[in-house]
Amino acid sequence: MAQAPDIQAKRLSKAQLEANFANLHAPLNAHEAFVESDRCYFCFDPPCMKACPTSIDIPLFIREIQTGHPKSAAKTIFDQNILGGMCARVCPTETLCEEACVREHAEGKPVKIGLLQRYATDAAMADEHPYGRGKFSGKKVAVVGAGPAGLACAHRLAMHGHDITMFEAQKKAGGLNEFGIAAYKTVDDFAQREVDFVLAIGGITIEHDKALGKGLTLEQLEKDYDAVFLGVGYAGVNELGLKHENSKGVEDAVYKIAALRQSKDLSKLKVGRRVVVIGGGMTAIDIALQSKLLGAEEVSILYRRGREHMRASAYEQELALSHGVAICEWVMPKKLITKDGHAIGLKIEGTVMKGKKLVGTGKTYELAADVVFKAIGQTFVDMTAGALALEDGRIKVDEGKRTSRPKIWAGGDCVAGNKALTVAAVDDGRRAAESINTFLRGSHHG
Ligand SMILES: Cc1cc2nc3c(=O)[nH]c(=O)nc-3n(C[C@H](O)[C@H](O)[C@H](O)COP(=O)(O)OP(=O)(O)OC[C@H]3O[C@@H](n4cnc5c(N)ncnc54)[C@H](O)[C@@H]3O)c2cc1C
Ligand code: SF4
Repeated sequence: MAQAPDIQAKRLSKAQLEANFANLHAPLNAHEAFVESDRCYFCFDPPCMKACPTSIDIPLFIREIQTGHPKSAAKTIFDQNILGGMCARVCPTETLCEEACVREHAEGKPVKIGLLQRYATDAAMADEHPYGRGKFSGKKVAVVGAGPAGLACAHRLAMHGHDITMFEAQKKAGGLNEFGIAAYKTVDDFAQREVDFVLAIGGITIEHDKALGKGLTLEQLEKDYDAVFLGVGYAGVNELGLKHENSKGVEDAVYKIAALRQSKDLSKLKVGRRVVVIGGGMTAIDIALQSKLLGAEEVSILYRRGREHMRASAYEQELALSHGVAICEWVMPKKLITKDGHAIGLKIEGTVMKGKKLVGTGKTYELAADVVFKAIGQTFVDMTAGALALEDGRIKVDEGKRTSRPKIWAGGDCVAGNKALTVAAVDDGRRAAESINTFLRGSHHG
């Protein structure tokens, strides 16, 4: 345990890194897409569609592919989900549409809905933007945050003819599509290409380096605009609550993932030889797997309950395991072991359920680590100075995603009850835009 931490760049060759971070799934070609679409039963009352948070008419778009009309298929998808291209790459389909597919129940092999969606949307995105901007309504809407929720909201508002100004804290739009999603799920700068695709409708301006709570205030936005949508996601990360948490070698997984996504040369990124990740969600899997792909030798995920309780799906867990990541269940970190201000390991304790409570077993172990990643969840940071009602620590909204203030809507990760998936953020954004449009049209005519 007393060894100096081994953290370095260039653990793998450039060629190896390129191969490791290539597309997770190869896209379907036209023949494969036809064969796959032919497997669909075009069910009446389709369970796949009910399982899709954006309620895409799945049998209809699959039928359109099967009859040789992939661009019509894409239109069917975009009508409900303008970020259907990204969702085709990142949705955990194994717990959504494909889990519900009748062929999954009958033979354990669902129709590959995600790959078919990608085939259709890729075909259409190479073309002209499929929607026209509605006739100008005379109304202006501010959208704060240019992540999936904000982009989906802005696009639908532009279709309805409103003028939209987006305020984005970062220099790039896309939110976690650009700074969070695992690199091998969205290759070739797809996130930025999709932002360009969404903006191509017209009527949407993005002002970068503009943050609510830092210069921008809700009161001012309410004064200057007819309606406001907040899609600001999570800005905070949870702490372990252990001593020495600020030591070198202890890092927040989301920041490292963002650095990885922005890196132009992965061989320059430093990675530990032995990496320990604490958490059980998608972020934990992503940092563990990407550390392995960068050349870490030993990567372990520590999770305080059983694998079946992890927020990361069984598919995501298998993906990590198949790349040599170890998942240690029923353990919790007790102490960070440091030397000269740098983490060199962890003391961990076994856990067990006692009634409904998770408790330590008293049995402890030591685990050596060069880097420890914290991936135990993110939190909403209220930048509205308490102006909006909250619920469970996030913004409280109604069915139409309207907040406790009449001119303000919100959606995506920052609102209570949201499932913290890209597709759920897109759904919120579209629903909010419809509700805002009804409000603006009502106030316009009445
Ligand atoms: C590491 C990681 C991996 C993930 N992988 C997946 C996956 O594979 N599949 C999946 O479905 N979901 C995944 N998710 C979840 C998904 O990315 C989010 O649920 C989704 O991005 C939420 O969208 P959003 O628009 O609400 O927020 P965000 O994507 O967070 O976008 C919020 C935007 O608001 C901006 N902003 C924040 N504060 C301010 C402010 N004060 N003023 C102005 N702008 C501001 C931010 O810069 C950002 O652009 C992952 C999340 C993480 C962290
Ligand atoms: S449930 Fe499966 S087979 Fe039925 S319509 Fe959906 S994709 Fe096709």
